[in-house]
Order: sequence, then structure tokens, then C-alpha cells
Amino acid sequence: MARKKRSFADKVAKGTGPRLEICPKCGEGIQVIKLVKAYTFGEKDSLRFKGKMVKVCKCNEKDVFG
Ligand SMILES: [Zn+2]
Repeated sequence: MARKKRSFADKVAKGTGPRLEICPKCGEGIQVIKLVKAYTFGEKDSLRFKGKMVKVCKCNEKDVFG
């Protein structure tokens, strides 16, 4: 019983821990950010927002942030 409990705790710890990806190109940590873009939809000029998860590191931060 105690064994089962421990393995469950390990699983939870793994699931909630910070997941840091390292970029193989620049060796920097990869940040996952949510990029929200506003755009007009149709001819009524109704404004919409689109969220997109983007991975950012030194390689593409200039492209992402302009
Ligand atoms: Zn990179």
C-alpha cells in the first residue's frame, strides 16, 4: 500500500514540476508564451482575438516580438 502511494506522489510531482525545454540550437531555455493577436473579421470591422501558444528562445524571439 505504502509503495503505491509513493509512486502516485512521484507521478504528481512530475506532472506539476516546471518543464524547461532547452533549445538545441542556441542552448537557451525555451519559453512558452501565449501570443494574442487582434484582427478584424469580415466587413463589419468586428474585432476578434486569437490566442496562440508560441515557443520562444533566442533563435526566434526577434521574429515573435518584432
Ligand atoms: Zn534557440
